[in-house]
Amino acid sequence: MNLKSEIKEINRVGKTTAGRFKKIDINKIEDLLFYFPFRYKDFTKPKKINEIEDEDEINIKGQIELIQNRRSKNRKMNITEALISDETGEIKVIWFNQKFITQNLKNGDQISLAGKIKKNLGELVLMSPIYEKLNSEEKATHTQGLIPYYHSTEKLSQKQIRFVIKSTLKLAGEIKDWMPEVIKKDLNLINLDKAIKEIHFPESKKILELAKKRLSFNELFLIQLKSQLIKARFKNQKGEEIKFNLEKTKEFINKLPFKLTNAQKKSAWEIIQDLEKKKPMTRLLEGDVGSGKTLVAVIAMLNVYYSNDFKQSILMVPTEILALQHFKSITKLLEKESFIKIGLITKDNKKINYEEQNWEKKTKKKKEETISQNCHIIVGTHSLIQESINFKNLSLAIIDEQHRFGVKQRRSLVNKSGNKKTAPHLLSMTATPIPRSLALSLFSDLNISIIDELPKNRKPIKTHIIDEVKRIQAYSFIEKEIDKGRQAFVVCPLIDPSDKLGVRSVKEEYEKLKNEIFKNKRIESIHGKLKPKAKEKIMNDFLNKKFEILVSTSIIEVGVDIPNASIMIIEGADRFGLSQLHQFRGRVGRGEYQSYCFLFTDSENERTKKRLKIMEKHNNGFELARMDLKLRGSGDLYGTAQKGFSQLKIASLFDYKLIRLAQNKAIELINKGELNKYPLLEKRIKLWEEEVHGE
Ligand code: ADP
Ligand code: MG
Repeated sequence: MNLKSEIKEINRVGKTTAGRFKKIDINKIEDLLFYFPFRYKDFTKPKKINEIEDEDEINIKGQIELIQNRRSKNRKMNITEALISDETGEIKVIWFNQKFITQNLKNGDQISLAGKIKKNLGELVLMSPIYEKLNSEEKATHTQGLIPYYHSTEKLSQKQIRFVIKSTLKLAGEIKDWMPEVIKKDLNLINLDKAIKEIHFPESKKILELAKKRLSFNELFLIQLKSQLIKARFKNQKGEEIKFNLEKTKEFINKLPFKLTNAQKKSAWEIIQDLEKKKPMTRLLEGDVGSGKTLVAVIAMLNVYYSNDFKQSILMVPTEILALQHFKSITKLLEKESFIKIGLITKDNKKINYEEQNWEKKTKKKKEETISQNCHIIVGTHSLIQESINFKNLSLAIIDEQHRFGVKQRRSLVNKSGNKKTAPHLLSMTATPIPRSLALSLFSDLNISIIDELPKNRKPIKTHIIDEVKRIQAYSFIEKEIDKGRQAFVVCPLIDPSDKLGVRSVKEEYEKLKNEIFKNKRIESIHGKLKPKAKEKIMNDFLNKKFEILVSTSIIEVGVDIPNASIMIIEGADRFGLSQLHQFRGRVGRGEYQSYCFLFTDSENERTKKRLKIMEKHNNGFELARMDLKLRGSGDLYGTAQKGFSQLKIASLFDYKLIRLAQNKAIELINKGELNKYPLLEKRIKLWEEEVHGE
């Protein structure tokens, strides 16, 4: 066995389990070792039974005095009850619907338990604890020390993941440490293999911190190296000068039904100035949901259109639905520009805003060829940079909901641009709230524009946390809004059935709303497993008011615009980060109507409630991201602000100190031209260049 061995070669891992690991992208042992926990439970201090208090989360060790199954009073549930003793006393333990436990655990067994204490009829009970039998040689894996928790899927339990990782952890020694020794020494970084071992099963909190630091530095250092390398590599590219057309730009802006915000004007101006240079633009446009980034993009594309000869712009978006929507909204924005040709290219959709008479018959050409050769503005998904598509003269490429173009994307755009002498201007747009100083140090190869204000006409969305007891009241309010002609979204947490109890799923919620709550309303549901065509139809129907309520998973998160929808209901709101809630909320309040966001939670936890309360008061995406990170703290290594930084599995975007260190080290290395002294690091960077999306 080695790092490249398949998961299924591990002892006791069969085909089925291997298949489940595959679902979370773990195929080889190497993947497994780099699959980091997202939090830990602290069972470093075991308690004696007589020390236990209500609401404690504890680990105890003891002997089973008695264990048996019984039916609950309504006979719907199996209850396993046990009595555990240590030298200080006895405590009752209860599990629900886990009948098999009595086959594993017998009277007299020595066990270790970890879980939460609840008071039940005046008696302290340990509820549904994790259990493991103790044998004298081995340390407990699931109930003692700092216990790792991993993001998982339906059928893969925490116990299974821990078991498999633990049994392969010795192979961590084979991991080649690509970090130059001098840097490790300089910054007191522990070795990579040690970090990997400790991140999974930390010996202590102190060592865990060192492991986090080392692994975080890995990620940040690579990002910085990439920035520096891109900067160096594309330094000599020539760009095409796009002259600013003041008259046409003014004309366009004056015809809009609203005024541009100052932030939009400023960003548009920065972009226009970049376009006028003989170097290709590489700019990142940041702006909260609904801040009007598309319009700024359109102003840039309009200037490309009005420059002297035939020049093209493309706008790439992450999904089919979004592509279609952008195609429509841009067509609408530019409807007064009667000669501008706008095209759409996605896997399933090829359209053009104005059809050449019998063009295809005449030329016998494929539709995408017609579009890529004749349209001024082309909207699409990643299909746009597929092999078969070549543009006539591509001058500006815009990518939505991404931080930057990858190296491969950049190369392929140059090759397809139809222009041998210059490279296209590049603009990335993102709603991820990264403060300017951070963005500058993360992406030192990019210029940054930020839209930090929302259009004035926006009515702030009224946000309310709704307790279970007020649910019915909220529904009747929603019904009234719908009767006024509005539409509503209902977002349910992604089902993570490993802790399915009580979590609302799209299917159940859809049935309930349809059959019980809103019987005379039209309701549809949507989730990520549907085919793109089906999703698109549902979104279109919703846009065209063919139904009133859309029950959804978190897939509606990116971009889709339904101006008539004024209500956002979020079930299990406590399961989402503030940034994510803010993104959901941004789906409403996009039209003229007063909009509402209702956060449902059955959590009794005061901290959770306090966290959600922030949503009622704050409307600024960046502030929310920051507070989220602070509140969820190191308990959640992922931090929701980092969505879109897929390569940041463990580093925090807000760890300025480490980011700065990583930047200094990267610049030093590139400036000295010493990269080739470190072949392992070079190889690591090569890997990244092969990836299509380089952030
Ligand atoms: P995002 O930045 O999230 O991509 P959009 O570009 O989709 O935002 O804009 C959201 C909505 O706001 C669109 O319907 C757009 O027409 C509208 N909009 C853009 N700029 C303004 C403005 N200055 N005033 C009023 N509405 C605007
Ligand atoms: Mg957008």
